[in-house]
Amino acid sequence: MRLLFSDQTRLLVLVVVCAVLWSLESLIPLNQYAKERFRRVLPNVALTILLVITNLLLSLGSAQLAALVQEKQFGIFPQFKLSYWMVLLFGIMALDLFGYLAHFLLHKSWLGWQFHRVHHSEPEVNVTTAFRQHPGETIWRMLWQVLAVVVFGVPLEVVAVYLTLSALNAQLEHANIRVNAPLDRWLRLIVVTPNMHKVHHSRAQFQTDTNYSNIFSIWDRLFGTYTSTIDLRTLRYGLDGFDDNRKQTLPALLKLPFIL
Ligand SMILES: [Zn+2]
Ligand SMILES: [Zn+2]
Repeated sequence: MRLLFSDQTRLLVLVVVCAVLWSLESLIPLNQYAKERFRRVLPNVALTILLVITNLLLSLGSAQLAALVQEKQFGIFPQFKLSYWMVLLFGIMALDLFGYLAHFLLHKSWLGWQFHRVHHSEPEVNVTTAFRQHPGETIWRMLWQVLAVVVFGVPLEVVAVYLTLSALNAQLEHANIRVNAPLDRWLRLIVVTPNMHKVHHSRAQFQTDTNYSNIFSIWDRLFGTYTSTIDLRTLRYGLDGFDDNRKQTLPALLKLPFIL
């Protein structure tokens, strides 16, 4: 299997897509946000840089493990004679299922929520919210990716493709852009769309506790956590008690998991 995405290529693609979505947020905004756009997203940009560094550091170990899994033919997939495309499709689905479980547990465990509320305390969801994630959450998510690799025997190249697709969709679903409603409804039959993920960022917990899926919307439908279209104009993002600007700085967000 030869589908090589170097870290540099992936990073470049993500930066370009981010720039395009950032521009679209000015042209076709879903919500009108307060001014000082650049200053307000700085903590998210810093967290994104931390995410990249944490991922690079952790990937050194996880890549070795994935290579070992491949060499020893561990996991479910190598036990069957699957074609290249089947391994690619099932591998992406397996990683996405474990991504769903990792996300669900971030909401349902006390410790998980301490970390994950960094992501949900964003009062103005936009493209930079995609990687507004505490390094502790990055480690948690990577553990689940490693688990999926070991259980299913997902090749390293498939992990690289999955991470690229996942990051691209994360940027799209957080972007503050208006999406044609019928188009969104069609797309969400398969993938998580911007309008679908926005519901998950609602301040109302009964909405937050739905739409956990990452790339494929099937997991929410399958596990009964799916919320279909709601009126996005009435949706309020963020968490109560986190609207104060002093709680939105980088040091405050990094300390957040350790504040009881
Ligand atoms: Zn969440
Ligand atoms: Zn989100």
